Order: sequence, then C-alpha cells, then structure tokens
Amino acid sequence: MHEMSIVADLFTIIEEQAQQTGAKKVTKVKVLIGELSGVVPELFRSAFHSYKKGTIADKAKLEIKVTRIKFKCHNCGKEIKSKDISSPDFSYACPFCGSKEVELTSGREIYLEKLEIETS
Ligand SMILES: [Zn+2]
Repeated sequence: MHEMSIVADLFTIIEEQAQQTGAKKVTKVKVLIGELSGVVPELFRSAFHSYKKGTIADKAKLEIKVTRIKFKCHNCGKEIKSKDISSPDFSYACPFCGSKEVELTSGREIYLEKLEIETS
C-alpha cells in the first residue's frame, strides 16, 4: 500500500524531530497532503493509526489538510487554482491566456506541517 510507505517515512521525520526537541510524547501531528499527490486521506489516516502503535506518537491525533492544486502562469503571471480549471482533462494550459508555460506550485506535496509534543 502506497500510503503505508509514506506513513513510514513520516514517522522517521516525526521521531527525528521529537528527539531534537526532547519530546516525551507526540500529541498531535498535522500533515499537508496535496490534491495531486495520489494519497487518499482516509487510507493515510488508517495507515497512520495502525503505524503509530508503540511509537512516540502512540496517542497522537492526526490532522490532515488537503492542499489544493495551484499553478502559476509564466506568460500572464496569473495564479491558477483548481476552481479555475473547469475541464477534468486540464491540459496544463493557462485558462486565462492559453499559454502552456504553467508551473505547478502547490498540490503535489506531502509534508509534516506541525507536531505538538509534551516534554514531561
Ligand atoms: Zn496565462
């Protein structure tokens, strides 16, 4: 399962950060998941909760924030959000000027945004 390996990577980071900050316990984990990352938030959640057992984040709550797709057009400089993309077969062309010089600036990432910890 795709989500399981991502969760395993996430726990490597969690444990590193917890060690660096002297945490005894991680109480909350906040993760950003991009709309285009291919990760299903519900699968990620269940993978997280089965993986956390016996780790420093044993009792941690998980908060998932899905980040929307965003592109930037290099031709007209406009920012393109998912609501601007009407067709499902978005061809990576700017809906404002038609340019193909668009760059994905958000939506593919998965990262740990925040950890809440207890040090005693
Ligand atoms: Zn444009």
